[in-house]
Amino acid sequence: MKKHLTIFGKHVPIVRTKDLLKTHEAFAMFHRDKFFIEIDSSLTGNIYYQTICHEIIHAVVQRCGIYQAGLSHELEEVLAEQISVAIVENFKLK
Ligand SMILES: [Zn+2]
Repeated sequence: MKKHLTIFGKHVPIVRTKDLLKTHEAFAMFHRDKFFIEIDSSLTGNIYYQTICHEIIHAVVQRCGIYQAGLSHELEEVLAEQISVAIVENFKLK
């Protein structure tokens, strides 16, 4: 599993955290302020890749200025979720 990504030239660490789902009720989080992704350490397979794709979309939205342009949080979540599902259902990511 990857330990970091690069989003438009910016380093994005991936931190695997035990029990993130229990403590934050989330599979993962993109931390905009410190520009890193935190993901529950128990995730594997399709759910891992779908979750990473979801967080990459949040990072792209931040990195390319869409967030700053005023995209609503609700729309960003819909886009992140639907695009990540479409990617994982069409590409073998293992
Ligand atoms: Zn999200």
